[in-house]
Amino acid sequence: MEKETYISKHDIIEILKKDDFSDIVKQADYIRRENVGEEVHLRGICEFSNFCRKDCLYCGLRKSNKKIPRYRMSPEEILRTAVLIDKHGIKTIVLQSGEDIWFTKKILTKLIEDIKTHTDLAVTLSIGERSFDEYKVFKDAGADRYLLRFETSNENLFKKLHPDDDYHERLKCLQWFSDLGYQVGSGCMIGLPGQTIKDIADDILFIKKWNFHMVGAGPYISNDDTPLSGSKNGNFSIVQKFIALVRILCPKVLLPATTAMDILRSDAREIILQSGANVVMPNITPQKYKQNYRLYPDKPCIGEDPITCRYCMENRVKKIGRKIAQDHGHSLISIREK
Ligand code: SF4
Repeated sequence: MEKETYISKHDIIEILKKDDFSDIVKQADYIRRENVGEEVHLRGICEFSNFCRKDCLYCGLRKSNKKIPRYRMSPEEILRTAVLIDKHGIKTIVLQSGEDIWFTKKILTKLIEDIKTHTDLAVTLSIGERSFDEYKVFKDAGADRYLLRFETSNENLFKKLHPDDDYHERLKCLQWFSDLGYQVGSGCMIGLPGQTIKDIADDILFIKKWNFHMVGAGPYISNDDTPLSGSKNGNFSIVQKFIALVRILCPKVLLPATTAMDILRSDAREIILQSGANVVMPNITPQKYKQNYRLYPDKPCIGEDPITCRYCMENRVKKIGRKIAQDHGHSLISIREK
């Protein structure tokens, strides 16, 4: 049995405030090596629609943003993308979109079944809030994982940022994923306007309490096409400490170095992989679409085609002495432990 690490909220806050935190990073990197090894898992993100019915204040895809051209990939195009990345050794496709109800239960179910029939990919869904019935049907069709961020565990802040959402509904969805047997991914934004260091410490403890299979956390990046225009971006060293603390508290979690981190510095993902992370998510959206999946400005890698992006990520991983995993990278936390 791995030893449970306990760090109090007070100590988490002190660590988050520290200027010299190399000891924490070293500890996280050691725990990562001991628990999940040297391999880095590739998750190919296919951003298949940038339509969204919601108006989250920080997000460039919000329905009120009239400045981005909207697109929807056809199910056939998504399937072709899945087949392509399967051939290039990516083992998971993350089907990500705004909350686009054009993709009905029927369309998505067939798409999941087709991907499972024609490829050897694990399927992660990241399509927002749906009904229990839909989540169940998608799971029965073969979806392996569901990714839905809680964004912030501060209920008041959640309410301010999500005019269309209810905090408790969000938590209910996360519980449903567990109940249905999905590998559950969640996470939050670090450095949101109005978020305090105490809130960030609470988010880390929230992640520990929920024992998610995967934690996707990234910095808040200000977007001029949103009502939060002009606010400050998240701070890289806080992001790095956040990731290290999550690894220390959740030794077996799947922990990505997320794309948004590269906005803060160009070698961010390498640094984060050496601070506890063990997943990277190359963007495999066809090039003609990916520039319009503008969650935030200056998104990295939009000039590259999916396969270039995949091998670029592999090279970055190799340069820091790590290797790409050849398996599906399913969670080492059993569904029952949750
Ligand atoms: S965060 Fe998600 S649900 Fe909210 S506006 Fe953006 S894409 Fe839509």
